[in-house]
Amino acid sequence: MTRHVRVAIMGAGFSGLGVAIRLDKQGVDDFVVFEKASDVGGTWQANTYPGARCDVPSQLYSYSFALNPRWTHSFSTQPEIQQYIRDVVDEFGIRDRVVLNCEVLGARWNADAAHWKITTTQGEFTADFAVSAAGPLSAPNLPDIKGISSFEGAVFHSARWDHSAELAGKRVAVVGTGASAIQIIPGIADTVGQLTVFQRTAPWVLPRVGHKYTAVERFAYQRIPGWQRLVRTAIYWLRESFVIWQAKIPLLAAFVGLVARGKIFLEIRDKELRAKVTPKYRLGCKRMLISNDYYGALSRPNVDVVTDGIHEIRANSIVTEDGSELPVDAIVFATGFRIEDSPTYDLITGRDGRTVAEVFEAEGISAYRGTALANFPNVFVMMGPNTALAYTSAIFTIESQINYIADAIAQLTERGLRTVEVRGDVQHSYDVALQRKYEGTVWTTGGCDSWFKDSTGKIHTLWPDFSFRFYRTLKHFDLDAYETT
Ligand code: NAP
Repeated sequence: MTRHVRVAIMGAGFSGLGVAIRLDKQGVDDFVVFEKASDVGGTWQANTYPGARCDVPSQLYSYSFALNPRWTHSFSTQPEIQQYIRDVVDEFGIRDRVVLNCEVLGARWNADAAHWKITTTQGEFTADFAVSAAGPLSAPNLPDIKGISSFEGAVFHSARWDHSAELAGKRVAVVGTGASAIQIIPGIADTVGQLTVFQRTAPWVLPRVGHKYTAVERFAYQRIPGWQRLVRTAIYWLRESFVIWQAKIPLLAAFVGLVARGKIFLEIRDKELRAKVTPKYRLGCKRMLISNDYYGALSRPNVDVVTDGIHEIRANSIVTEDGSELPVDAIVFATGFRIEDSPTYDLITGRDGRTVAEVFEAEGISAYRGTALANFPNVFVMMGPNTALAYTSAIFTIESQINYIADAIAQLTERGLRTVEVRGDVQHSYDVALQRKYEGTVWTTGGCDSWFKDSTGKIHTLWPDFSFRFYRTLKHFDLDAYETT
């Protein structure tokens, strides 16, 4: 039997759960959250690799309505974040509407009935509104390298860590040097026998200025009213100032680059290794990374950095473009996620029978306010195009979108409207105005390729401005930008 709900939410990470909690609070308790994994947490449930921790300060990396005075470090580890998410689900009483082990196989708009028909591994549902909260970091990007299927050892992606694979004493390859890899490498360097790091582009790495919280600090967060919020606010504005050198005065990035260069100089003695890990683009062009143990790990005698591309993978080795054959027992792909061509875009079929992926392919990737899509009535996308923040917490974006969606549903309910769809011309003008804001920023002029940009150089991932402007833009739902029935 098909079950009908007011709102169907796809994904039980920070985004989906945040929407659920807000809807519940405003009296819309008829919703369901589909989660394909066996636990809540989204990316924090999936990424269990050694050394996984957040590179955004803990004080910012929590819901504003559920501050956590119990964080043990100013940069939280993955297990603590996942436990925080579990605790929030229980504290706000929404666990009964989260369906675990339930994968969404497809969602199709039914114009006659004015609802979404959602097919899942646990049956059919219909919903007046759908919220796509699968997240941009849910589908691993596994490069299609010649011979990969012939490899006989353990091979897995960083977001699907194989905890049964025995790496101790083995020859391990890590492909990639992004945010995940620079945590994994120090996490395994002292237990594996030999570690070969395949670096395509050197990342800029800044020091992590953080510390383990003392009992006194935790006591203060728990007992002094307003203290934790004050600290959070101070950190928020400090991070906000990063926009000035990233987007407003890009030359300032060169000065921050000096700090990163100094770090390479101080932490690496070997001149050849220093040269390999020194990036050739301006700091900030790709996502900046922070670490206090990455260069130390690369400097270990059992660690090598290989900058030649991978030509082929054989049963027990990796062959590089220059013909060298390196024997390996296990390969970890820390190669990021399918952001541009996320498979979740194939699942949602809109008013004219085309999927989100097909519309993006034909018309380019864009969304009105990162949240609404023309041709897709009554659907909202969490962390959609041009919403990622390069310098502060994604939770701030998520909460801005939650405000918008909650207000949309409230306004539509109050006016007795059944359908809402952003006008194509409004979405187009929004995108054109947004694209102008990237001109001259370090993301476009910094001399790098990154997942921020597509192959044409268009940026459809990042929000280009202060995050408080995104918050203000989405504070209220602007019904006049939409067609309604
Ligand atoms: P990523 O930043 O996209 O890095 C992927 C790495 O793999 C890059 O070094 C990339 O090289 C390399 N790569 C990709 N395809 C390759 C190929 N075919 N051959 C060789 N190398 C290849 O991915 P990620 O490290 O998983 O991080 C993804 C995002 O997750 C981050 O940007 C961040 O938003 C998030 N994250 C956050 C945290 C946190 O602490 N909050 C931690 C981990 C991840 P190129 O640079 O040349 O493309």
